[in-house]
Amino acid sequence: MNQTSERNWAGNYRYSAPIAHPTTVDEVQQLVAAAPQVRALGSRHSFNAIADSPGTLVALDLVDDAIVIDPGALSVEVSGGATYGTLAVELQRQGYALHNLASLPHISVAGAIATGTHGSGDRNGSLATAVRALEIVTGSGDLLRVSRETTPDFAGMVVALGALGIVTRVTLDIQPTFAVRQFVYENLPWGEVLQHFDAVMGSAYSVSLFTNWLGENVDQAWVKSRGGDYAGESEFFGGTAATLGRHPLPGISAVNCTEQFGVSGPWSERLAHFRLAFTPSNGDELQSEYHVPREHAVAAIEAMRTLSARIAPLLLVGEVRSIAADDLWLSPNFERAGVALHFTWKPEQAAVEALLPAVEAALAPFAVRPHWGKLFQTDAKTLAASFPRLDDFRALVDRLDPAGKFRNDFLERTVFGRART
Ligand SMILES: Cc1cc2nc3c(=O)[nH]c(=O)nc-3n(C[C@H](O)[C@H](O)[C@H](O)COP(=O)(O)OP(=O)(O)OC[C@H]3O[C@@H](n4cnc5c(N)ncnc54)[C@H](O)[C@@H]3O)c2cc1C
Repeated sequence: MNQTSERNWAGNYRYSAPIAHPTTVDEVQQLVAAAPQVRALGSRHSFNAIADSPGTLVALDLVDDAIVIDPGALSVEVSGGATYGTLAVELQRQGYALHNLASLPHISVAGAIATGTHGSGDRNGSLATAVRALEIVTGSGDLLRVSRETTPDFAGMVVALGALGIVTRVTLDIQPTFAVRQFVYENLPWGEVLQHFDAVMGSAYSVSLFTNWLGENVDQAWVKSRGGDYAGESEFFGGTAATLGRHPLPGISAVNCTEQFGVSGPWSERLAHFRLAFTPSNGDELQSEYHVPREHAVAAIEAMRTLSARIAPLLLVGEVRSIAADDLWLSPNFERAGVALHFTWKPEQAAVEALLPAVEAALAPFAVRPHWGKLFQTDAKTLAASFPRLDDFRALVDRLDPAGKFRNDFLERTVFGRART
């Protein structure tokens, strides 16, 4: 097994642990059983230390990624290391679909669900809400199979931050394939958007607003329509239909973005913002994202607009998305429909980290919860207050990982509330 020390996708974090690449689940089991400390590493798209381990990291990229569809059960089983892009292509080839995708299709399935990764859409839960069953290599090296139907505490095992073991297989809900049409609008007056916020976000299957938080206009709205729920107009809440293909970042070619102008196409080629065929190299960006309950969305957006003079110099682009409520203990959408305020930052980590406390303080009145895989400064006490099942999750970790094999500094700091080691 090849073992090297490497960086995450953004290049802002160097894993302290060497990375093992087992080729079978059996090898994963042996490796975990023998290792004093170990954790899973996905496609490395997180921006913080969440994946790291004081021992060894296990990547599943060389493990058999067979995709097994059960048409009767409307489910698909896939390796935890598979990417959503690969899965989406195969599902579409066989006439099936997932309910949603994140902005980028290159992210691993197990890594995405471990952090509550989401797309947009008032009726779309995060990607983790599609998880029906998991196969997990636990600290003893044994295989544990858990499912939504039969396992008590399953709702604590899905968005699990890698703390319960290595997820080797994931079973997801699927549905018959569907077509999506994507429309892009520009320069929507904030006044109009905020006055009709529910109508804006609910106008189609998935809606994203792109903004630099400055000025009086939302830069772009990306509206993804399913089954004719939105027909496309020349105007959208005071914004006008884009006449050229648009990238979320001003001045960047749209060649890598999914098809726009309302051209109908499969869900697999429209729900993400970026094309699968576009292979991003290491990213020159950082990200943070904060979830607020839907009823506070407008006030939270206003708070970010008030901070725009401090945010904008460090920002590449911001995005506003909506997500349905779920019952997953550590999900930012646990028991509340929410709106996510996303920040793609310039790769200036020290300056971004210096600004985050101000962003978090401005959002604090709105029961904010951070995205686990992005940059945030929220302390354990605040996290414990905002995730009501955190105590139950701690107990679950203690029960399934009594030796603490899957613990790391990030978990100690955020979930367990202990100082850095
Ligand atoms: C360009 C870009 C676009 C993004 N777009 C979105 C978006 O649209 N929406 C959104 O919500 N987020 C988005 N993210 C964030 C990203 O989805 C999350 O950080 C996600 O966790 C990354 O998955 P990964 O496979 O890269 O996981 P990693 O970063 O490798 O690991 C993240 C966590 O998952 C755990 N994990 C990974 N694999 C396994 C496994 N097999 N078993 C158990 N645990 C595992 C790790 O231990 C770690 O705790 C984006 C990130 C980037 C870089």
